[in-house]
Amino acid sequence: MTRHFAARLNDLVARVVPRLTFDEPLESEFRSWHAEHARARVRNAMWLAMGNMLVVMLAGGPFREMRSAIFGPENQTIVDVLRFGFIVPSCLAMLVVSYTPLYRKWFGITAQIVAPVHALSFVVMDILMHPRGYSLSSWMPLVVLAPYFLFGMLHAQAVRTSLLVVLAYALGGELAGVSGPQRVFDMFVVAFACAIGGAVHFAFQRGVRRNYLAKQVLSESANRDSLTGIHNRRMFDDHMQRLWQQALRERVPLALLLVDLDHFKAFNDRRGHQAGDACLAKVASVLPVAARRPFDLAARYGGEEFAVLLYDARRDRVEEMCRQLHATLQKAALEHPASPVSQYVTFSIGAACVEPNLGRHPEGFIQLADEALYAAKERGRNRTVIMDREYETLTTGAFRIPRARGEAA
Ligand code: GH3
Ligand code: MG
Ligand code: MG
Repeated sequence: MTRHFAARLNDLVARVVPRLTFDEPLESEFRSWHAEHARARVRNAMWLAMGNMLVVMLAGGPFREMRSAIFGPENQTIVDVLRFGFIVPSCLAMLVVSYTPLYRKWFGITAQIVAPVHALSFVVMDILMHPRGYSLSSWMPLVVLAPYFLFGMLHAQAVRTSLLVVLAYALGGELAGVSGPQRVFDMFVVAFACAIGGAVHFAFQRGVRRNYLAKQVLSESANRDSLTGIHNRRMFDDHMQRLWQQALRERVPLALLLVDLDHFKAFNDRRGHQAGDACLAKVASVLPVAARRPFDLAARYGGEEFAVLLYDARRDRVEEMCRQLHATLQKAALEHPASPVSQYVTFSIGAACVEPNLGRHPEGFIQLADEALYAAKERGRNRTVIMDREYETLTTGAFRIPRARGEAA
């Protein structure tokens, strides 16, 4: 019964307040992006908060008089503990996190600790001031708004933190016996700031999420081949440059498979260009099977040629992968009545396995796979040729022109 009620309440809340979350893995990607996006803002806010606090708390002259008038000498120890035991260290902790690799993992948690520590310190200071007739009530709405705008929090975190501050302010007042119409009015203003901040932050976060989604969709479609749906040449080129550098740093081997359909011109001539397009899409759907690991990539290289780039792949894995690719295409049994090689569509694979080093370039790597593909075509098509040792003797720049393959057939 209780569970039923809770479920209905959840439904109701979800209908009134749409949830600000994406499905995984997009949500995790968004959170990382959001944290990185907030980094400079959080850092600046912390420098500002700490600088302000140090001036107000340590400066001499009128500041010294103000401090002793507001808190009185009897409260100096508590105030010192608050500023040097809580506020300054928490600002420093946030700064350390924001300047180091700890940020990725610890930003969310640190923000959710630091923001309440700051706010609760202000609540305590407010209570300490009351006996002398002072109050931080004019400052409190800003304290309540800070979780929304200064700490780069996600919406639910910011709402929780802001509500906590309102609650602490109300409780603190009760415990310290601060009452009267002015206090009721102050409480109302603080609660109002919390609600307004929440509403504005909600709209803001929804906008940020929509823009993020639009950007993802745009960049996704800019990196996809419209006919086959797999990655396009632009994505392949970018990925190759990135992966080459990464493999160089981590001393890891790379493998490149160039996959070229056999006698595809004859397929088009016999069955028509549209059937050719459909065939290309079917063949392309076979390839991602080979590029399952996080850094691997399958792309349309151009025309009826595809490329599969594999990270940390040695020759034996490549051999197995190519065997699988041929077998999967064979199982698909796409009829090719004009092929002298088989009654079904086949492809040839040229594979290169190299360990990047400083004297080499991705161009040489691609050239090696191209050489291997040429050899596979020459040796009768519908097969794989893998080259690795040849890399040492390869002179970059001696590219074969693609048409030469067709002529050699
Ligand atoms: P080989 O076995 O030597 O690779 O012979 P091939 O006929 O496959 O090679 P060739 O380079 O002579 O011809 C490639 C053909 O691929 C020619 C072109 O019509 C076809 N092609 C390239 N892009 C597309 C496309 O987007 N759609 C269709 N339907 N055909 C394409
Ligand atoms: Mg071909
Ligand atoms: Mg070709």
